[in-house]
Amino acid sequence: MLNIAKQVLNMINNNGYKAYIVGGFVRDYLLGIESNDIDITTSATPKQLQEIFQDIDLASEEYGSVTLMIHKIRFEITTFRKEIQYIDNRRPLEIEYIDDLYQDLQRRDFTINTICMDKNLEIIDLLNGKRDLEQGIIKTVGDANKKLREDSLRILRAIRFSTNLGFCLSNDIELAIKENKHLLRHLSYNRKKQELDKIFANKNAKQGIELLLRFHLDRELELERLTDIKNTDSLISVWSILNVIDIYPFNNSEKELITSINRTLKLDNLDPRVLYDYGLYVNSVAGAIKGIDKKKITEAYNNLKIHSKKELEITSEEIMELLKKEPGEYLTEIYKDIENKILYGILDNQNDVIKNYILQEY
Ligand code: ATP
Ligand code: MG
Repeated sequence: MLNIAKQVLNMINNNGYKAYIVGGFVRDYLLGIESNDIDITTSATPKQLQEIFQDIDLASEEYGSVTLMIHKIRFEITTFRKEIQYIDNRRPLEIEYIDDLYQDLQRRDFTINTICMDKNLEIIDLLNGKRDLEQGIIKTVGDANKKLREDSLRILRAIRFSTNLGFCLSNDIELAIKENKHLLRHLSYNRKKQELDKIFANKNAKQGIELLLRFHLDRELELERLTDIKNTDSLISVWSILNVIDIYPFNNSEKELITSINRTLKLDNLDPRVLYDYGLYVNSVAGAIKGIDKKKITEAYNNLKIHSKKELEITSEEIMELLKKEPGEYLTEIYKDIENKILYGILDNQNDVIKNYILQEY
């Protein structure tokens, strides 16, 4: 990964522009954590970058930032810039491209996110980010109150970094969160969810939730059930308990999953019919929320006589022929009945046994 990053920096440098790795990659590299993508800050503008790397699609250019994929590594390349006057506490009204790294670092959120690395892997640390990284502290670049007011997402980013890295928040960030937390209401649910996902998916999610509660952000974020979360084993279990599919963005399959998990929370996750209808995954997540041992649920699931309709030793054609009837609603009823009888061990899943039963009962 580093070798490819070096090549990218070299290519930009060889065209006469400055370029450094910045942000998450450098921070995590110094902490010995693996990164998924690499942020680069450069004096080259998106247009100039396109001349260097043909695969850059300028259509994706947003606020002077372009994405480059090389060998499956995602590079987010952003032109040095100054952000001029913020509107609605979230977006800069205007950006101005500049030629100076120091000024670019000034507009960033936290000192630990301002450490840079050049093409020789030398660390460039203009704002003492390394010291704060070593001390395990999240500090804003400049005045905390001003930074959080400019973009209230930084409130959640501060909590995310504190949670995931196990770092403390500086006193002035804590004060600024209390002062500005109401601004979270103006932020898009999409941006909020991205940060919340990162908090809830982390192994320290519990501490993250405690931190959100300590600042009473549950109210600002409309997460009424945040206090109910005991189990943070999976991201989906957290979102299921929060049950905010009407407010936050989820895709259809996530919505369906969350709805099913909530339904089975009220049912017996070891009951054969519940296991059969909702499957192992949904019941395991619901079971985990209720503190039922996953092994027990897996065992009960594996012991089911049938796991789907396909495993039934009878087909709808056979049923229709047996009853000399055309297809109709009655089939659903019969299926439900024989599934139940088989699941609860009243009927064997054998073709002749099922046929006899149907002839007798229908
Ligand atoms: P990760 O990629 O691990 O989630 P990151 O720190 O790299 O963390 P990104 O969202 O990739 O976060 O942003 C890259 C860099 O851009 C950050 O390190 C920070 O310097 C700057 N940055 C990102 N978002 C903001 C923001 N809302 N306000 C100020 N600076 C920001
Ligand atoms: Mg990043």
